[in-house]
Amino acid sequence: MNFSDAERIASVLCDAGYEETKKESEADLVVTVACSVRQSGINRIYGKIKEWEDIRKSRPLTTVLSGCVLAEDKKKMSKFFDLIFEINEIEKLSDLLSVIPNPPSERINSAEGSLKNSRERDFSTRRSAKSVEMTRPNSFFQIHPKYESTFKAYIPISTGCDNFCTYCAVPYTRGREISRPIGEIIAEVKELTKNGYREITLLGQNVNSYGNDLKNGATFPDLLRKIDEIPGDYRVYFYSNHPKDMSDELIKTLSKLRHFPHYIHLPLQSGSDRILKAMNRHYTQKQYLKLVEKIKKAIPDVSITTDIIVGFPDESEEDFEQTKKVMEEVCFSMPFIAKYSPRPGTVAEKMKDNIPKEEKEKRWRELTNIQKTILEKENKKLAGKDFRTLIDSEKNNKYYGRTDSYKVVEVPKKQTDLMGQFVKVEIVGPSAWLLKGKIISSV
Ligand code: SAH
Ligand code: SF4
Repeated sequence: MNFSDAERIASVLCDAGYEETKKESEADLVVTVACSVRQSGINRIYGKIKEWEDIRKSRPLTTVLSGCVLAEDKKKMSKFFDLIFEINEIEKLSDLLSVIPNPPSERINSAEGSLKNSRERDFSTRRSAKSVEMTRPNSFFQIHPKYESTFKAYIPISTGCDNFCTYCAVPYTRGREISRPIGEIIAEVKELTKNGYREITLLGQNVNSYGNDLKNGATFPDLLRKIDEIPGDYRVYFYSNHPKDMSDELIKTLSKLRHFPHYIHLPLQSGSDRILKAMNRHYTQKQYLKLVEKIKKAIPDVSITTDIIVGFPDESEEDFEQTKKVMEEVCFSMPFIAKYSPRPGTVAEKMKDNIPKEEKEKRWRELTNIQKTILEKENKKLAGKDFRTLIDSEKNNKYYGRTDSYKVVEVPKKQTDLMGQFVKVEIVGPSAWLLKGKIISSV
């Protein structure tokens, strides 16, 4: 989602006459798109603030903050940024920049805590005061993004979230769920596929509830079917699914479509019913496992990835054992394991963060090792088989890409430029985290 925010911000700034640079050292305007999911993301911004303060000792630099920022962090950060704006006010960004009270060149240059100009602070605070309750124009969706890649694109299909999982910052930073009109999404997919894009990812905090707020009654399976009709050589992924909302219709639809690989990201978060309840997730371990069984039955070659949080308040050894059990039973293609981090303003923040850091680390390592063992065994079965792969990066004379099932593949680099192309790769050296392969043909 942040990636998609950044592409839209770049687009508005380019329209306003700014020029993009890949080198931060050359920039005189820096826009930070914050992620508040974990404290570590916010801490990284504080690190950058220090760097920018140093730069400002020798030259002007304007700093802007947007993305997902919790009210408490906004308040703390407002004195360090020239401007904080709501991502939903994106179309006003160039106007907002033009009225920054102190142009960067007039700023007082000194070390930490230098930005003491009260007008500047008031300005940022005034901006940041608009928060969740705002009546949100859908201009965010209408901004034409400046796509970072020439072959891979992210398309937001909704913003916000109505679920209020107790650990999560998103409903507070992004507000309630708003679905993007189906026509706009289809138009964007058509434009991208016409321009040769090979991979499209539909983004929403809970794509399964797409359309619930739309008047025309379009559902997520409707959207997928409509996209699938668009001709072209491309594949489409979507994130994130909420297990409580994954319908039979969606599973059936996915099993039939041409452009949608058999891949589902299905966040588990915890295997313990007690913790799932405390997280406000609205499903039990049994329901989650039943859902997985149903998916595997309808789509036998499905690849399932997940998100897991370890060290949620009060997570006992027994609770953790339940998470391990689910991991072993499901055999995820990849779990994204996070250590619980309290987010200001959420319900869980009021619970005692009573699992010590070392214990969270230990549980994280334990799950990672279990996953490694699972993947070593599962990936061995892939040796000698071939998979359609989209080459999407290169490093040290190697190409990297992802199979349709979203596994990372490494192949030797060829003379011909294969970036952004589908190739058929035979797996010759499988390991837990990487599949080494050789290209056998273009697709
Ligand atoms: N809407 C998506 C994901 C949102 S955030 C969903 O429901 O799956 C992405 C992931 O970050 C979550 O799935 C969760 O595993 C993790 N996460 C969110 N808040 C967290 C917190 N406070 N501490 C640790 N991990 C967190
Ligand atoms: Fe956060 Fe839960 Fe919404 Fe995902 S579904 S964004 S975890 S509140």
